Amino acid sequence: MFLEVTQLSVTYDGQSTPAVRNVSFGLHAGDIGVLIGPSGCGKTTLLRAVAGLERASAGVIRLGGEMVSQAGVSLPPESRQVGMVFQDYALFPHLSIGRNVAFGIDQLPRAERQARVAEVLALVGLEGQQERFPHELSGGQQQRVALARALAPRPRLLLLDEPFSNLDVDLRERLAYEVRGILKAANATALFVTHDQLEAFAVGDIIGVMHQGELHQWDNAYTLYHRPASRFVAEFIGHGVFTPAVIRDVAGEVVVQTPLGNLNDMSECPLPSAYLGGACDVLLRADDIVHDDDAPVRAQILRKAFRGADFLYTLRLASGETVMALVPSHHDHALGEWIGIRAQVDHVVTFNRNPCPRTAWTAALRFP
Ligand code: ADP
Repeated sequence: MFLEVTQLSVTYDGQSTPAVRNVSFGLHAGDIGVLIGPSGCGKTTLLRAVAGLERASAGVIRLGGEMVSQAGVSLPPESRQVGMVFQDYALFPHLSIGRNVAFGIDQLPRAERQARVAEVLALVGLEGQQERFPHELSGGQQQRVALARALAPRPRLLLLDEPFSNLDVDLRERLAYEVRGILKAANATALFVTHDQLEAFAVGDIIGVMHQGELHQWDNAYTLYHRPASRFVAEFIGHGVFTPAVIRDVAGEVVVQTPLGNLNDMSECPLPSAYLGGACDVLLRADDIVHDDDAPVRAQILRKAFRGADFLYTLRLASGETVMALVPSHHDHALGEWIGIRAQVDHVVTFNRNPCPRTAWTAALRFP
């Protein structure tokens, strides 16, 4: 691993609970890692500890095989060779783009410095823009200058903290893909912080979901979505609901009984013995619920959100349970209408039953 963080905790002075608690993950050279989670979950604190801007209270950080932080020893930020890009581009308004980008490579001979500035500006798609000034550029272009400036000294690791949050939503996703292309072309190893999942999916090779200072899962986007390690990850990534279910052994075959009937593909399903009496909560994603006029289960449309190709319907079953369904947008049904639905679940994800079960469905349990 190029960046290796082991059991890292950070506690701010005067605070009783750590802002980052016992976090471990690793990043290969050339990979882009993303930390995602709700505001206040500790993403920035973790990033700043990796940069050397916050002191760790426990744990170890290694960078390129070198120990940069452990109990009582912390290499200062300038010795870590880490580049940073923040949400406010922090360009110097009175300096040209060329001089902004050259800021961190002042020590290089003039010709070499100019060549490096030209090289990184070309990398971010701003070839030949050295003489312009920040106010002459759009927000997206300014952020690309900030990226060029951070890349110029060839940092061992690039840290990006919500770099697009001041930009328009449309621009953000496009820029996220562009930045991924730039980082890959520069062969950079990067750690990126965001609270936006689309941005995380667009940028990251590997994504870490944080909650209340802890890292719940560090995995690729596919695994986070289909194999969430905790209820929090399951709820934070994608759209879906938990619904009470019972895992049973019926004539030697494992079945999961849900308010939507038995789930079909049980190849990855836990055994009934995994839960007391087989009772658990099963995750039903919006894309697990298929609209089918012939299905025996009907549900009433409570809410609908148009998303271009699809509607995201929120539906209530006769038993009172709520589910969500992504339905192609030519199926434009009215609020209050009852439509047929069935579950088509490829990955059965279950957790211990919520301590406060939804009584409507519990009362409607009529299993054989
Ligand atoms: P995020 O980046 O996920 O929004 P932060 O790392 O900024 O989260 O904050 C994590 C927790 O640490 C929050 O509870 C926040 O209030 C607290 N915190 C952040 N910075 C400081 C600080 N300088 N002093 C004390 N507490 C802080």
